[in-house]
Amino acid sequence: MSDSSLTPDIFARLRETAGIALDEQSRFSDLTTLHLGGKPRLTVQCESTAAAVSAVTALDAANIALLIVGGGSNLVVADGQLDLVAVVMAQDALEIDLDTGLVCAGAGVVWDEVVAATVAAGLGGIECLSGIPGSTGATPVQNVGAYGAEISDVLTRVRLLDRSTGAVEWVAASELDLGYRHSNLKFTSRGVVLEVELQLNVDGLSAPLRFGELARGLGASEPSQRWPVADVREQVLKLRRGKGMVVDPADHDTWSAGSFFTNPVVDDALADSVREQVRAIRGESDAERMPRFPAGQGTSKLSAAWLIDRAGFDKGFPNESAPARLSTKHTLALTNRGTAQTADLVDLARTVRDGVREKFGVTLVPEPVWVGVSID
Ligand SMILES: Cc1cc2nc3c(=O)[nH]c(=O)nc-3n(C[C@H](O)[C@H](O)[C@H](O)COP(=O)(O)OP(=O)(O)OC[C@H]3O[C@@H](n4cnc5c(N)ncnc54)[C@H](O)[C@@H]3O)c2cc1C
Repeated sequence: MSDSSLTPDIFARLRETAGIALDEQSRFSDLTTLHLGGKPRLTVQCESTAAAVSAVTALDAANIALLIVGGGSNLVVADGQLDLVAVVMAQDALEIDLDTGLVCAGAGVVWDEVVAATVAAGLGGIECLSGIPGSTGATPVQNVGAYGAEISDVLTRVRLLDRSTGAVEWVAASELDLGYRHSNLKFTSRGVVLEVELQLNVDGLSAPLRFGELARGLGASEPSQRWPVADVREQVLKLRRGKGMVVDPADHDTWSAGSFFTNPVVDDALADSVREQVRAIRGESDAERMPRFPAGQGTSKLSAAWLIDRAGFDKGFPNESAPARLSTKHTLALTNRGTAQTADLVDLARTVRDGVREKFGVTLVPEPVWVGVSID
C-alpha cells in the first residue's frame, strides 16, 4: 500500500484545476476494453494538456501512485481495491496540415479518429493502423502495429512530460527505442505523452503494402504496391472485424486486449525444434507451413496465434460456459464473456502460456500492461 494519502488539499487542488473532472465511483471495468479490474482510489479525467500536466505533477509530488489511462485497451488490471489513482487522458485537439502532411494530435484523441480524418483528407501512412482501439497518446507506448505498418514509420516526435523532472518537452521518436511492441515508455513511469506528431504523405496513396492477406484482399498484383488510402482502410477494417479486432460492445469476442501474447522471437535452434515437434504431432505439411520469419542474429519470429492453435487450444477454449475464454474468432485474443473477473482471465492466460511451453518449449510473453496482478 502507498503510505501517501489523498489529502483534502490534493483533492481541492485537483478539483479547482480547469479541465479536470474527478470521479470516485469509476472502476477499471468501466475504463478497459476487457471490462475487468477493480476500483482506483480516484479517477482524474484530464480534458487538456495543461490539466494532465497539473494532475500528474501534483500526484507525483505527493508520492501518490498513479496509472495513465487512455482507452484501456491494453490493460489487465487486478480485481478489488487498487492503491492508485487513474489519470485518464481526454485532451482531444487534432490539427492536420493538408499541404505538408504534418499531423499533431492530443494524447486523448481516439486513435481511429486520427486515422479516419487523415484518410478522409487523402493523407497516407497510417491507413494500415485503422481500427486499433485506444488513444493516440498510447500509440508510441508499445509502438502499435498491424498489417505490416507501425506508428514508428510515421512518428516524428512526442511532447512528453518527464515525470522525474516535471519538464515538458518535445522528444524525437528516435529517442524512444521503438521496436516490436516496445518503447522505453512501456512498463515504466518515465513520462506521459501529451501530444503526438506524425509525418504523413500527401499523394493519396498508402504506405507500400507489406502484408500478404491485405494485398491479396485488395487485388494488388505486385509486392509493396501502394494503393488508395481509403480502400486500404476499408479492407483493413473488414479483415479486423472478421477477427473480432474492432471493438464492438455488443460482441464479447471484442471484450479483449487485442493480441494477448507477442509473437515470440526465439533462437533458430529452438525454432527448428518447434518445427520438429509440429512435424511429429501434426505431420510434414503442417510443419512446412509453420510461420517463421528471420529476426536477425540467429533468431526467428514465430506466430503466437499459430503456436496456441497447434498446442491444442481451439477458438472458444475452454468451453461455452467459461466466463473467460479464447475469442471464437481468433485464438490470440483472450476475452471476457460478460461475467469474468480478472482472476478468470489470468487463469486462462496461464493455462495457454503453460500449454504452449509444455508442447513446444516456447514461453509466450503477454503484450498488455499488467497492473496489480501477474501471470507468474
Ligand atoms: C480489439 C483490440 C484490438 C487491438 N489491436 C491492436 C493492434 O492491431 N496492434 C497493436 O499494436 N495493438 C492493438 N491493441 C492493443 C491496444 O489497442 C493498443 O496498445 C493501444 O495503443 C492502447 O491504447 P490505450 O489508449 O487503450 O492504452 P491503455 O490501455 O489505456 O494504456 C496502455 C499503456 O499505455 C500507457 N499509456 C496510455 N496513454 C499514455 C500516455 N498518454 N502517456 C504515457 N503512457 C500512456 C498506460 O499507462 C498503459 O501502461 C488492440 C486492443 C484491442 C482491445
